[in-house]
Amino acid sequence: MSVTLKLPLCTSCGKPIPPFERAVKFRCPNCGESIIWRCMKCRKQGNPYVCPKCGFVGP
Ligand SMILES: [Zn+2]
Ligand SMILES: [Zn+2]
Repeated sequence: MSVTLKLPLCTSCGKPIPPFERAVKFRCPNCGESIIWRCMKCRKQGNPYVCPKCGFVGP
C-alpha cells in the first residue's frame, strides 16, 4: 500500500497525527485564524505550541 495520507501535523512537535490518535484540534485563542493541532503526547507533557500566524505561545 502506497497511499499517501494527508495527516495533520502536531503544532508542538511537528509530527503527523494518525487518525486514530486522540489528538485535539482547536483554533488559536489569540487570532482565531489558524488551526492548532496537538498530539496526545504533547497534551500529556504540556508542550507549548506556537501559532504559525500570530506567534501566540500557549500551553
Ligand atoms: Zn506533538
Ligand atoms: Zn494565532
